[in-house]
Amino acid sequence: MVYDIAIIGGGIVGLATGMKILKNRPDIKIAVIEKENQLAKHQTGNNSGVIHSGLYYKPGSLKATNCIRGYHELVEFCETEKIPYEITGKVVVATREEQKPLLENLLKRGLENGLTGTRAITLEELKEYEPHCHGVAAIHVPQTGIVDYHQVALAYGRKIIQKGGEIFLNHKVLEINQRNSINYIETSKKTFEAKLVINCAGLYSDKVARLTDSSIEDVKIIPFRGEYYKLKKEKEYLVKNLIYPVPDPNFPFLGVHFTRMKKGGVEAGPNAVLAFRREGYKKSQINIPELAETLAWPGFQKVAAKYWKTGFGELYRSFSKAAFTKALQELIPEIQESDLVDGGAGVRAQACDRSGGLLDDFAIRESQFAINVLNAPSPAATSSLSIGGTVAEMALKHFD
Ligand SMILES: Cc1cc2nc3c(=O)[nH]c(=O)nc-3n(C[C@H](O)[C@H](O)[C@H](O)COP(=O)(O)OP(=O)(O)OC[C@H]3O[C@@H](n4cnc5c(N)ncnc54)[C@H](O)[C@@H]3O)c2cc1C
Repeated sequence: MVYDIAIIGGGIVGLATGMKILKNRPDIKIAVIEKENQLAKHQTGNNSGVIHSGLYYKPGSLKATNCIRGYHELVEFCETEKIPYEITGKVVVATREEQKPLLENLLKRGLENGLTGTRAITLEELKEYEPHCHGVAAIHVPQTGIVDYHQVALAYGRKIIQKGGEIFLNHKVLEINQRNSINYIETSKKTFEAKLVINCAGLYSDKVARLTDSSIEDVKIIPFRGEYYKLKKEKEYLVKNLIYPVPDPNFPFLGVHFTRMKKGGVEAGPNAVLAFRREGYKKSQINIPELAETLAWPGFQKVAAKYWKTGFGELYRSFSKAAFTKALQELIPEIQESDLVDGGAGVRAQACDRSGGLLDDFAIRESQFAINVLNAPSPAATSSLSIGGTVAEMALKHFD
């Protein structure tokens, strides 16, 4: 059996891609190859569950365009497939005077990205939206929503099966060789043959990319763990919807925030600390070869030099619940350490180039026999149908 397309990775991006391909061309033979015993086990299953509006991203960037297009497609998908979601809106809150210009810039950017209804609000209005939140200035973003991306990804998977695609769990891709225009994809169980490979391997996308083309040596995935606390049930009243801080412009993550989850509960986090293993969800999980590779990567050394101060703060908050609570108290002063219980963690796949740039935008690279999704961090879950549509279009050109 020679498949037309093998998609490596059963996360939300790989599944969205498979679904989009089959929607346009049901005759294409697809295999989704996933190493775990279930779909969406990694980034997709451990994220904040926010349907991002497109507020933060540079106008015209792939993040901005795919987030906004993906947002609308996702909402429509949830409606037709009856997947529970909610458009809750969110507030972004400056807690210190010096953050006010940053908040103003953020608002400008949101408006440039076409977010109608996003506006500066008074402190009285802030109290109406979030009665327990403290700030010196705030904006309200009405478009933001919440959903359980695990459920969304499983629904994409079901669509693939309905359209005749195949999904193989427990098949870890180990090696790819090309002969006579066919990719021979060796996995832990069997060898697949496919005309085109689409790599959506998330935390291992750089490794899989190198299996498709050994010359792809200019990016490395740096894993950043994001740890969460949860509000105790009896304290959930402190957060009505979503409360975000003004992001630190010197750091590529959004800062710890409060999120009401669609599956229930309120999460506080995530922070961002270097994971000592790509799928290292606990501080104790270390993979020496993976860690050594990260530390030796010239780009990482430059990132560490650039962000060491913020990085140490994040690390300190990772080990000290008191320090984590203090960061949260900036937004909700009455929160106490005893109001928080452990909430698990997710690991972000963040691509880093050799010269020390954390890739800010989504990155998709095409070669003769493969399409590699090399960087799909947040808001890739929100954007999944748009990214999937773009990759599907690229893929189908190979079969025109
Ligand atoms: C803490 C956190 C919070 C986030 N919050 C949000 C949010 O609120 N909103 C939002 O839009 N985005 C958010 N994101 C980002 C979003 O979750 C990711 O961008 C998205 O899930 C990426 O999907 P993916 O399919 O590329 O990766 P993944 O979901 O990681 O899937 C990749 C898959 O590839 C498989 N794989 C890897 N190597 C191999 C191999 N060799 N063989 C076979 N299979 C392999 C893995 O097992 C995995 O299932 C967040 C991410 C994190 C970590």
